[in-house]
Amino acid sequence: MCLFCKIVKKEIPSNIILEDENFIAFHDINPKAPVHILAIPKVHVDSFNEAKAELMAGMTTFIQEIAKETRLDESGYRVITNIGEDGGQEVKHLHFHVLGGAKLKWEHISDADPKGYL
Ligand code: AMP
Repeated sequence: MCLFCKIVKKEIPSNIILEDENFIAFHDINPKAPVHILAIPKVHVDSFNEAKAELMAGMTTFIQEIAKETRLDESGYRVITNIGEDGGQEVKHLHFHVLGGAKLKWEHISDADPKGYL
């Protein structure tokens, strides 16, 4: 069972801020911003590559609710999902990083040659 499935089953403790039938949100253990929340589906999905549109519809509403509860909806925030090797995905269970609480940096990510990617 993957790490986040264990968090869903409460086999591993987490700092849960919001939960419903299908989704759970908890504080990232290694925050990269004053507010760093992870929103995940309870069902195991490897990454955004495998996410169904219906799941994403529910996830959208769930993330909006997180933003409202934390009042990030007023100050602004960022939603990120890392996918696969190049995306830097460490935990292979779909998750969305919800980041805020400060003016977030947006830095240059790579200087690699884009040739071959259209
Ligand atoms: P990613 O690199 O997109 O796969 O993000 C995985 C995230 O999970 C990282 O930001 C980690 O800090 C976070 N993380 C790993 N283990 C835990 C945990 N037990 N509780 C909360 N967050 C975690």
